[in-house]
Amino acid sequence: MNLHEYQAKELFRAAGMAVNPGEVARDPGAARALAQSYGGSAVVKAQVHSGGRGKAGGVRLAHSPAEAERHAGAILGMTINGLVVHEVLVSPIESIESEAYVGVLVDREGQCPVFMVSAEGGVDIEEVAATNPAAIHRLRVDPRYGLLAHQAYGLATRLYSDSGLARQGARVISQLYDVLVDNGASMAEINPLISTTEGQVKAIDAKVSIDDNELFRRPTIAALRDPGSESPADLQAREAGLSFVKLDGNVGCCVNGAGLAMATMDLVKYYGGEPANFLDIGGSSNPDKVVAALEIITSDPGVKVILFNIFGGITRCDDVANGIVEAVRRIDMGVPLVIRLTGTNEELAREILAGAGLAAVASMDEVVEQAVRLAG
Ligand code: GDP
Ligand code: MN
Repeated sequence: MNLHEYQAKELFRAAGMAVNPGEVARDPGAARALAQSYGGSAVVKAQVHSGGRGKAGGVRLAHSPAEAERHAGAILGMTINGLVVHEVLVSPIESIESEAYVGVLVDREGQCPVFMVSAEGGVDIEEVAATNPAAIHRLRVDPRYGLLAHQAYGLATRLYSDSGLARQGARVISQLYDVLVDNGASMAEINPLISTTEGQVKAIDAKVSIDDNELFRRPTIAALRDPGSESPADLQAREAGLSFVKLDGNVGCCVNGAGLAMATMDLVKYYGGEPANFLDIGGSSNPDKVVAALEIITSDPGVKVILFNIFGGITRCDDVANGIVEAVRRIDMGVPLVIRLTGTNEELAREILAGAGLAAVASMDEVVEQAVRLAG
């Protein structure tokens, strides 16, 4: 689960970190009042779960309350990477001396948190990573000991040659590690971590992703979820209890079990196709889940064919077949459907499908090849 910048900053503040002040506005008038309260000038920032807001025009400096109101009016309602802005964060303008990048994320392969820092932070960090990777320094943290003081200071010296700034930077870096661990985050990032012309180090941007599997034991963090920031498909999938990840291809995949879903995507690629999604309808499917899954898949205009791949173990093939027949009756698919069903109650499932004029094949290769061909 991704947090908004203003929510992530609250977690930073709770860890004691130096963060620039700011408040959320939901209409231009409120932004104007906030700018007024900051002495007239302010920075107005779109609150959406996307990076690159600055480059998209979602971060603007205002030098009067009227200008803050105009900027908020322009940013509220704008779309950044497909996400509509409903809130802006309004902060006093900082006078920036330098912009650094500090991030920590869980490295699954290394099975430990890994820090990445760069003195060349700011809106071009992706370009730095691509063209000058040596400017990004990495440090793996042994989770048994946590981030040690000398490690934090060592990272900070990559950012600042001045020892006073490095000390402040080291404090922020340790605090960021605490944010990661204490909130069950998989990623916590500051870009930019600025030093001001007055020699103060502080975070003026914040990005945190919480591991979804941590949410059940962290109700206050789970409550930070903003349903308005999720795509309708993600929202519907979560409500129906489906694991769904949207991808860019055109073969809509509906599979039971995460392992089979991954294998199906591999096979789609093997036959030259591109999956439109990962979708696991779960172990014990009921027809309603199948209907919800098909609604989600067909709402993607990129989908050219729908591929069902069901291995009936605990899942009963007849349940899935009933779901498919029900869905075909309820929604206008508009694209061909290819089905592979095997396992528990397979014969019954075939009869149910045949009754609705649908056929199923038994081989995974055959059905995937068929799907890729139909997708063109
Ligand atoms: P992002 O583009 O979504 O990462 O948004 P950021 O919060 O990182 O802002 C983008 C850029 O706007 C920063 O790298 C800064 O250069 C600039 N910026 C943001 N806040 C301020 C501020 O208070 N003062 C000044 N001078 N620049 C700012
Ligand atoms: Mn940023």
